Formats: sequence, C-alpha cells, structure tokens
Amino acid sequence: MKKTKVLFASSEVEPFAKTGGLADVAASLPKALCGLGHDVRVIMPKYKNIPMQYVEKMEKIGEIGIYVSWRQQYCGILKLEMDKVTYYFIDNEYYFGRDGYYGYFDEAERFAFFCKALLEILPVIDFKPDIIHCNDWQTGVVSLFLNAWYRNSDFYRDIKTVFTIHNLKYQGVFPKEVLGEVLGVSWEYFHADGIEFFDKVNYLKAGLVYSNIITTVSKTYAEEIKSDFFGENLNNVLNKRSNDLYGILNGIDMERNDPAVDDRIFANYSKDNLEGKLTNKQMLQKSLGLQERIDIPLIGLISRLVDQKGFDLIDCVMDEILKMDIQFVLLGAGEYRYEQMFKYYQEKYPGKISVNLKYDALLSQRIYAGADMFLMPSLFEPCGLSQMFSLRYGTIPIVRETGGLKDTIAPYNDITHEGNGFTFSRYNAHDMLYAIKEAVHFYYHRATWTHLMKKGMSIDFSWEKSAKEYLDVYKKLVAN
Ligand code: ADP
Repeated sequence: MKKTKVLFASSEVEPFAKTGGLADVAASLPKALCGLGHDVRVIMPKYKNIPMQYVEKMEKIGEIGIYVSWRQQYCGILKLEMDKVTYYFIDNEYYFGRDGYYGYFDEAERFAFFCKALLEILPVIDFKPDIIHCNDWQTGVVSLFLNAWYRNSDFYRDIKTVFTIHNLKYQGVFPKEVLGEVLGVSWEYFHADGIEFFDKVNYLKAGLVYSNIITTVSKTYAEEIKSDFFGENLNNVLNKRSNDLYGILNGIDMERNDPAVDDRIFANYSKDNLEGKLTNKQMLQKSLGLQERIDIPLIGLISRLVDQKGFDLIDCVMDEILKMDIQFVLLGAGEYRYEQMFKYYQEKYPGKISVNLKYDALLSQRIYAGADMFLMPSLFEPCGLSQMFSLRYGTIPIVRETGGLKDTIAPYNDITHEGNGFTFSRYNAHDMLYAIKEAVHFYYHRATWTHLMKKGMSIDFSWEKSAKEYLDVYKKLVAN
C-alpha cells in the first residue's frame, strides 16, 4: 500500500486549542488516518493559550520570513510528536500571542498569514504532501494562494487540496480591499466564480471554489447546504460543485471517551455495570449545588451559546420544562443575551438548574457522564459531536432532526424498540417540549431506559469507517 501524505490544516486542534467540534475532528481524524498507515501531519497556529505542558515539549525546527501582501513577517516553525501524530505550529507573537483564538480586528490578516505560512514552510520541513486538507474559513485561502503563485514550481505543482466545511455559517467575509492589502492577490480573482461575495471577499468561498474536492461533515448537511435555507448564500456555488461535494460523517475518539477508563469523570462504568453512572450523577449534583436526587431526570446541555443551537426554543418553554420534576445543567459560553437568559432561569429556579457560563473541558466530561439526557434542539447542525459523546456515556439525546443529528439519532419506537434517542422535526418549541416529555416518560420505564443506555453505549462512532471514506477521496485525487 502506498502511504498517502497529507498536511491537515486547522485553526484549532484538541488538546492544544478548542472552541468547538472542529478541534475534536482535527485531533481524531488525523490520528485515525495515521493508524491506517498513512502519513498525516497536522498544522495549526501557535496560540498563546496552548497549555504549557505541550509548549514545553515543542521543538523549534526552523524560522523563515514570509510576505503577507507587502509586509514581511517572522514565521517560526515548531514541532511536536504526540500519539504517533506529528504536529507543526506556526509561531508569530504579533498574530497569535494574544488571548483566545478568534475575534480580533485583523482576522483577515492573521489567517492569511497562517495560510501563506503553511505553504511556505513545506520545503523547509521537507514534507511534500499529496494533499493539503483545509478546514473552515480560516484555511480557505490556501487553495487560492496555491493556484495564484505556486503552481509553476515542481515542488507544489501536483499538490491537491481538500476543503472541509465544518460550519457554512462562518465564512470569513471582509472588505474587498483585503484582496490587495492583505492577501496580495490580483483582482483577476475577484469575480462571482472566484473569491468575490456581494462586493466583499469571502475566505470560505475561496476554499469552495479553488479546492479540488469539498467535503462536509454529514450526508444530510451535504444535501441541506445546497438549498436556500441552509446555503448561507453559497448554495449556488455548492450546487455548481455538487459533483465534487461529499458528506462524510465525523467520528469520535472512542478510546479517549470511554466511561470505563476515563479518569476525568467521578466514577468509571460500562454498559455491563452501570452503577458508576449514578455516582457520576450524584457527584455532579453535589458539585454544582443541585438538590441531590437521583430519582429524577437530569438534562444536560453543553454548547457554544449561539443562535444555531436552538436557544430560542428553550427560552419559549423553559418555564414549562423547569416546572417538571427534573433538573437541568447548562455548560456554555457565547452570546450575552443567552448568558443573561440562563442567569434569569438560574435565579428563578434555584437548586433545579445549574448554569455554568464558561468553557470547561473537565466539567463537560462530567456532564456527559452524570446527566440522563442531553438536549440539542439545533436550528441546523452540520454534524454535531455532543450527541455521540452523550450516547457513549449512556446519556440519551433529545435532538432536532437536522444535519448530522438526523444521521446519528433515530427516534425511539416503543413497539419495535428501534431508535436511540428522542427527536422532533419542526423548529418549534412545543415540538421540542413534547420530545422532552416523551424522554421523561420513558425515563421512568426503567427497563426501557436501561435498554436505551446500553444500546447507546454500544454504538460504534469510531473514525474507522469515515477515515476510510476520506482515504477514498484522497486516493481519487491522487490518482488523477
Ligand atoms: P460545534 O462544533 O458547533 O460547537 P459540536 O457538537 O460539533 O458543535 O462540538 C462541540 C464540542 O465542543 C463538543 O466536544 C462539546 O463538548 C464542546 N464544548 C462546547 N461548549 C463547551 C464548553 N462550554 N465547555 C467545554 N466543552 C464545550
């Protein structure tokens, strides 16, 4: 078997930097591909917030100067080997020596720099990939740069590009002056079939237009984004490229997320011995100041607090939810209005709802393990990983049937016993409430609930199948 060589470029990779599912994927997909015998190396910015324990192990392997438009910038190259995967980090104090990862005034420049840097360092690190696999808008202009400047060189000529959409909503749209001032690319790329987007530049669109293949993270989302509703004004571009568009479901790292050995949770358990799950519930309640009652359902929700995740539905019926004999745990950070909303309910229903407005990896794991149900009423959901983590920990998802949620969660049918969760289809608060009530109803049928927990914990969400689908895509490209 010939090894496929891939440079996997991402703006976040767990455990170095994470805001959402992209970081999980950028950690676990390359690991799975390496496990299948391929040479997949990961590259990301060296942010200030990467935990010291990893920074200490990084080795500096070079430095170069690169141009971002007319400005020459320092680019340090650091390397770290971990779990049989090679990681490279692009170092520049000015761009990445800041708190957090995103949201700065010069995002266009920071990520243009990252894209340029990852191309420029390849000869320096002596790695000529068959494929550069880019992810989301932060790496969108890699394929544009490659086409604009590098194709005449022997080293770069045959490199193919794959672009994966993890979320079409975030596009990296900037004033058109960015084209010359930041990207340094000529105006010949500024047109409807290029990087132009309503008289602005759109980094994600560049990725869609100039990459050889586009993938997204579930089959349903791959179809949805071709429509007006989900297409975020890029559905025409996606329809034009539909022959090159693939939906490949994300997996999760089943070993790192295994309740039988996970040392982040309060007690270990497995589908054959579920006792420890109750301990997790009790300890979670205790640590969060909830009433210690193991007899009632505990609903968990871990999410970025943004429109997409369905918080409007929750707001509509939260009183009705919290008037039931249940408890609710929220972990999330994001938009102010949603933080305020949850604070309001926290004050109104003390001891019943625990609101944790922060990013906290340890607590998230404890919620997956300690909750009975997990709520995900998303307006849209490209793939969604939380529902898979939940099932892995025996926590039953209540989800809206969209995108990857639809591809992973089937409604429980009490007659055939098929299904692994509770679902609703319309984006409607009372439909969601009905699904929650249904879940609560079955929670008290202990035999049914235990059946659902065991079944969820047995589902194989590993990367094995999906990694092979990515390999098929890579191979198709390399063969061409
Ligand atoms: P998205 O990528 O849209 O954020 P996903 O469901 O694909 O949604 O992935 C979300 C990931 O981020 C999950 O691993 C989830 O546990 C994690 N996560 C989200 N918010 C938080 C938080 N506040 N604290 C810890 N982990 C979080």
